Amino acid sequence: TVRTRFAPSPTGFIHLGNIRSALYPWAFARSQGGAFILRIEDTDQERSSQEAVDVILQGMSWLGLDHDEGPYYQMQRMDRYREVLARMKDEGLVYPCYMSVAELDALRERQMANKEKPRYDGTWRPEPGKQLPPLPAGVQPVLRFRNPQGGLVAWDDKVKGRIEISNDELDDLVIARPDGTPTYNFCVVVDDIDMRITHVIRGDDHVNNTPRQINIFRALGQEPPVYAHLPTVLNERGEKMSKRNGAKAVTQFRDEGFLAEAVVNYLARLGWSHGDDEIFTREQFLQWFDLDHLGRSAAQFDEAKLRWVNAQHMKLAGDERLAELVAERLRQRGIEPDARLAPICGLFKDRCDSTVVLADWAQKFYRPIEASAEELARHVTDAVRPAIGILARMLEACEWTQPAINEAIKETLRATGLKMPQLAMPVRVLVLGTAQTPSLDAVLALNDKKEVVARLLKGQN
Ligand code: GLU
Repeated sequence: TVRTRFAPSPTGFIHLGNIRSALYPWAFARSQGGAFILRIEDTDQERSSQEAVDVILQGMSWLGLDHDEGPYYQMQRMDRYREVLARMKDEGLVYPCYMSVAELDALRERQMANKEKPRYDGTWRPEPGKQLPPLPAGVQPVLRFRNPQGGLVAWDDKVKGRIEISNDELDDLVIARPDGTPTYNFCVVVDDIDMRITHVIRGDDHVNNTPRQINIFRALGQEPPVYAHLPTVLNERGEKMSKRNGAKAVTQFRDEGFLAEAVVNYLARLGWSHGDDEIFTREQFLQWFDLDHLGRSAAQFDEAKLRWVNAQHMKLAGDERLAELVAERLRQRGIEPDARLAPICGLFKDRCDSTVVLADWAQKFYRPIEASAEELARHVTDAVRPAIGILARMLEACEWTQPAINEAIKETLRATGLKMPQLAMPVRVLVLGTAQTPSLDAVLALNDKKEVVARLLKGQN
């Protein structure tokens, strides 16, 4: 069965470009009935933080990217890495290298001067019949992996196609530091083996690590997984997205009123396509997702587009669900909503591109605002004052339902000879503080009767 993983390093807050590297392996596992594993690559203790882990977990849970196993933490697997290292030592797959930093620097400089690619020259690599240098005193060696010599490392990348690297371009990788701690590429391979990962879907900033990782897999007697290296996500200025150049943490989009399904939809399209389909549900995405339609070129993040996708999902979202999200926001503003909130959301959702904007509309029903003097002067003219008075008294007498309110409005129009907009605009301004709202009878019906009548009576003067 398919087993995929997301393996973030918790060094800085996870942004949308990062989370896309979680979305695809998650979707692939889900669409194949497989398992999705979360692994936190926290071996860089200096730069890793619990806060960053929390943002990863919250962001994934918000977007519904649920994992079947984990989170595993690499720092908790050190014993396991040491065990595998010991086995590799026993099998002669690694060797100690005593070259000092100064010697390595000198080697690098010689190579650069000769216009060669800097690489370790194998001084300490044991070979039959080869005399190794005398052991220097007091130097703790690193362990290097005996990379195969000659031949190619090749794989069929699901995004990039066939990639072939000559082994002679790969030097013997350090896989344990002088203090015995394992290095990055080695931990990844041990983890991918232990976690029985079948498909590695990750950013293409790792494509240079892949041939090295494949060689370690084979040395450990394992076949490597299938690889899919996703093109970079660029920000709006065409730079690689990163926290340093202003990318927002994933959770900030939640705070700014984006719907999880809209973010999933947007990210899904940022590097994968299903024909011309732009707006789709999570279920459709899982039905359609495959590795064959991953994009090959860098994708560019566009917040305005994300906002548009969000607006489309606002229209599709159920009123009750929106009401729950909006209620949370209203409570933060000190407003306790009631049963009117779901129909209010239903009435206004079509004109909102975020739940923040929707909450702003809903707020007007709970904490009415006064229109500006300018709006009042523009809309509440002497010509309509009498009509407002008539409507106020009719509403006062009428049953508080939308049809009855509609009837009262029509009657006022008949009695005064005004056209609907001539009456509706000033009434909206008086009741909601703005001239642009959905249909007047619906808006009034969701308001408090006493409040509406009082505002209109006040407005006619
Ligand atoms: N920890 C790596 C990163 O955050 C991902 C490693 C991998 O997917 O193999 O970029």
